[in-house]
Amino acid sequence: MPIRFKSLLITCTLAAAGLAHAQEEPVLNLYSARHYATDEALYTGFTKLTGIKINRVDSDDAGIMARLKAEGASSPADVILLVDAARFYRGEVDGLFQPVHSKLLEDVIPANLRAKPAADGGTAWFGLSTRARVIVYNKARVKPEDVDTYEKLADPRNKDKVCIRSGSHPYNLSLFGAVMEHMGEERTQAWLKGIVDNMARWPKGGDTDQIKAVATGECEIAVTNSYYLARIMRSDKSDDKNIMQKVGVVFPNQNSWGTHLNIAGGGVARHAKHKENAIKFLEYLASPEAQNYFANANNEWPAAKNVEFDNPALKAMTGGKPFKSETIPIGAVGANQVKVQQMLDRVGFR
Ligand code: FE
Repeated sequence: MPIRFKSLLITCTLAAAGLAHAQEEPVLNLYSARHYATDEALYTGFTKLTGIKINRVDSDDAGIMARLKAEGASSPADVILLVDAARFYRGEVDGLFQPVHSKLLEDVIPANLRAKPAADGGTAWFGLSTRARVIVYNKARVKPEDVDTYEKLADPRNKDKVCIRSGSHPYNLSLFGAVMEHMGEERTQAWLKGIVDNMARWPKGGDTDQIKAVATGECEIAVTNSYYLARIMRSDKSDDKNIMQKVGVVFPNQNSWGTHLNIAGGGVARHAKHKENAIKFLEYLASPEAQNYFANANNEWPAAKNVEFDNPALKAMTGGKPFKSETIPIGAVGANQVKVQQMLDRVGFR
């Protein structure tokens, strides 16, 4: 729930006598763009462990970034949580983060899931959970081998079958930016044109809407983030059970560069007044307890190495086996965004 920031200093009554000492209340000001209602448990877990109170501002990514820019050096933000790699890249370029040193985070978060080291070796942002961008298909009409790579979304055999949300949505911009990293500019533009040719309808709605459209037969193939599918898989509603009867899932490119992974994560705000608390919080989010929360409550994969977790939907989705994911430095997808957007305009991908 959005709150107003209270005064951060408790000034003792001897102030008038010039003997004041200020004691800082253990506090952390968090700006979060994570749009998952179940996150509350993470924040109470941290406060219980450390005694540090969290003041939270919730908004979407664009809202958080605009607010940080408007506030400038007077921003009370200590930690910024964002969703999507390209937004982290943008935030880094815009100077919203301050690179920090944490041996713990550097040890547990793989190098490709965090910002490239700054000049002083610090890190501007860390991926804390991951989500795969997968392909779902109508089991009665499509063979999994016809959609087992991203390239095949553009294959003429899949004409008029594909549903996908707006090309300009960050989840797609990041996927396309990753594809550009793997295939180069020219092939990526041809591929995007092929997807437009294969669309069953113009993009509309979010990822869950695309999954539903496959189940209703409006399209036969769709692209979604894994956690939206996992939510439906874990639902007890009969509508959702019906969807899962009809829909299969493929983790693309297992025999080449691997399935595209995006991140949610966090960084210390440029003008953080509680930098130590901010680092503590990010370290807490990388702990097995918090990583398990990401996996179990929000159906994301832990970003930290060697975390055991138990989520039946995530297991079922991959047949209980680990899947091959891409290993490009995830910030690279952000660097490709301007070019990707230009390509989308050129090929008429709305
Ligand atoms: Fe989402």
